[in-house]
Parts: sequence; structure tokens; C-alpha cells
Amino acid sequence: MNRNEACDIYTRLSGAYPDSLNTHHWCSTPYENLILTILSAQTTDNAVAQVKDALLSRFPTPESLAEGNIKEIEELIHRTGFYHTKALHIKSAAKVLVEKFGGVVPSDMDSLLTLPGVGRKTANIVLYKSFGKNEGIAIDTHVFRLAGRIGLSKSTSQDQVEVDLMKLYPNEIWGRLTDLFIAHGRRCCTARKPKCDICSVKKMCYYFSFMPRIS
Ligand code: SF4
Repeated sequence: MNRNEACDIYTRLSGAYPDSLNTHHWCSTPYENLILTILSAQTTDNAVAQVKDALLSRFPTPESLAEGNIKEIEELIHRTGFYHTKALHIKSAAKVLVEKFGGVVPSDMDSLLTLPGVGRKTANIVLYKSFGKNEGIAIDTHVFRLAGRIGLSKSTSQDQVEVDLMKLYPNEIWGRLTDLFIAHGRRCCTARKPKCDICSVKKMCYYFSFMPRIS
């Protein structure tokens, strides 16, 4: 797929989901954004929203979370799944924030990647949502699935899919692209039963072109 076709897909999805700017909308500070994005791995926004208030009122700062009792943290985030690992990650990340960054969430990719539990996906989300920076494209499960189905990337590696998308799309829309793909993945191009008949980008979609049809 060339850049013009890829950008046409972006334009169509922008028209289809004008309300999709609010992915990861539950965060008001970089600290909240970082912690809640780590918790959002392998779970739903709803599960994160359910633990958010209790967690952040008990641990409102990196300093408080770094000193937090691990069992208490586990109980507070239990609903988000993988809570042993996630509790360890957010406590450790808070500790590094305090010890290395003066309790302030860094605003560059290299520093963010030194935090426990933070990979490129989380770092990209924090950079975009908290600092307005488009340094990469967050490849979550929806973005990964859509990139393959539509034909934007043939890779099975998340890192390579990110590189392929970065080549196809201009830098200034990278963050917005993730929001749109997540909206499309949730509402139309779902994992099990994509609703191709009503899809706004089906004419450009590799999967739609080749899927068997009952006549
Ligand atoms: S045509 Fe089907 S597979 Fe392709 S993007 Fe749309 S819903 Fe997904």
C-alpha cells in the first residue's frame, strides 16, 4: 500500500470516528497517565476506570506509590488482571521516578523506556497524551490487527509494524492514528467478527479483497 492510499484510510476513519480523541481519557497528569497506561495492558478501559479513583487517591504521587505496600497495591488493582506483575511494575516505576527523575515523569522516549513496565507502546501513549509529542505510534492489539488486515504491514513483530506505519503516515498524525484504529477495532473491525459490510475502508482493505464470500 502506498502513502496516498494509507492517508485515504486515515481520512475515512477520521470521518467515521470524530469522537475518538478520548482514548486513555482517564488521565489528568503525566503520573496518572503513566501508571494507568501500565495498568491498561491486557485489559479494558472499563477495568482501569474501576480501579483508578481508589488507587490514585491512596497513592496520589510517585513518592507515595514508591513507598506503598505491595499487597495493598495488588488489592487495589486486582480487577485489571496480571496484578502481581503490574503492582511490581507501577511501584518500581514510581521508585525510579523518585530516585532518577525527581518525582517527575520524563518527556523523552529514552528516559521513559528505563522505567519498569514501560515499553514503546506505553511510552508513545504517555508522550502523546501528556506532552503532545508524536515520537512513534502506539501499537496496541487493535492497531496491530488492523495494520495486518488492511495491508499496511505484513510483519508479525509489533516493532516492525510501528516502523511500517511510521513510513506510511506523516509524523503529526501518529498519535491520532492510534486513537482512530482503536475506535475502528472496537466498533467495526473486531477481532472475531469484523463488520466488513459496513466498514468505511473496505474498498482499500486487503482482508476484504481476498476473504471468501457467499454468493
Ligand atoms: S473491511 Fe473488514 S477486515 Fe477490513 S478494515 Fe474493514 S472491518 Fe476490518
